[in-house]
Amino acid sequence: MQGIHHAFGRHEVVKGIDLEVLPGEVVCLLGPSGCGKTTLLRIAAGLETLQRGRVALEGKEVAGGGGRHLPPEKRSVGLAFQDSALFPHLSVLENVTFGLKHLPAGERRQRALTLLEQLGMAAHAESYPHMLSGGQQQRVALARALAPEPQLMLLDEPFSSLDARLRDQIRDDTLHVLKKVGAATLLVTHDPEEAMFMADRIALMRDGHIIQVGTPRELYCNPSDPFVVTFFGEVNELSGEVRDGQVLTPVGPVDAGWLAEGSTARVLVRPEALQVAALDAPAETHSHSHIVMAKLLGRSSLLHICAHAPDGEEAHVHARVPGVFLPAEGQPVTLRLDPSQVFVFPSRPAGARA
Ligand code: ATP
Repeated sequence: MQGIHHAFGRHEVVKGIDLEVLPGEVVCLLGPSGCGKTTLLRIAAGLETLQRGRVALEGKEVAGGGGRHLPPEKRSVGLAFQDSALFPHLSVLENVTFGLKHLPAGERRQRALTLLEQLGMAAHAESYPHMLSGGQQQRVALARALAPEPQLMLLDEPFSSLDARLRDQIRDDTLHVLKKVGAATLLVTHDPEEAMFMADRIALMRDGHIIQVGTPRELYCNPSDPFVVTFFGEVNELSGEVRDGQVLTPVGPVDAGWLAEGSTARVLVRPEALQVAALDAPAETHSHSHIVMAKLLGRSSLLHICAHAPDGEEAHVHARVPGVFLPAEGQPVTLRLDPSQVFVFPSRPAGARA
């Protein structure tokens, strides 16, 4: 896709997007509700008429300048949406073979059964959709979309209607099958964890733009913009002036050598970045950080800490530490920072967004 713009009336929802999905690659379009993910997917499918830009499948233009628009059924794309309805009067097997009428009956059946097997649904081949659970129907919808071996699979929140445990299993199976058949896949989700699990690359969108595209690790470990950091989970927001290449924050000094001396830095600290140790001696507690509240969340403990900089500046921050660590309210603590979980950006101009 190149130079894609799209508006509904005067409301521009896609604002100049370039994106490529390579054969065998899973790319996740990730972003908050309303940022234009589904519209982009529908443009790729041909369900939305292209207004500006170009869409090509394996190098062949399917929509572009001069009003060229290949209808969805003529594009080699497989679609599975959150509420993909199966044909209720057809069996599971007939649903999956539906798009394979061009093949001999034996081959049609074999291909459908192989996919159903890979998605754990072979035993239900003769069942009808109303006899299946939501998760099983979703598996059949995926098999149906994959059966014609499309050049591009388009999945829009395919797991969001499933409960958490079922979702993990179906994600796992789906990824396995996508990789096995080598389909190029564009998957829409608003769930960062799902994107990190499924994607070879993530394109993080906001307000019709792609903010950053890269591997899950690149986005998580080398975010190019504060929005990328905040989208992947809670962060502590601190700020301070750059002095001698550092910002002295209440949770410790932070490297900011790449910012101009004297400028104001915005410092984003993940709760996991804070290493917390209880102090034995209660003396001088006023000069140390202390616990305001500690909560056990299961595999980790969440600590609400009142942190003090050497110059007395104070900030309330959250720390997340592994295991059971429940210091009492008022307990003095020392803090150390894991620099790989701390991100420094120039301070945003007044009125700008995250
Ligand atoms: P979600 O995660 O909530 O599905 P999204 O990122 O997929 O959101 P889109 O569905 O692409 O976002 O919608 C982008 C914007 O376009 C939204 O403001 C939406 O209200 C608007 N929009 C989408 N489809 C239409 C339409 N057919 N007519 C008018 N406005 C639309």
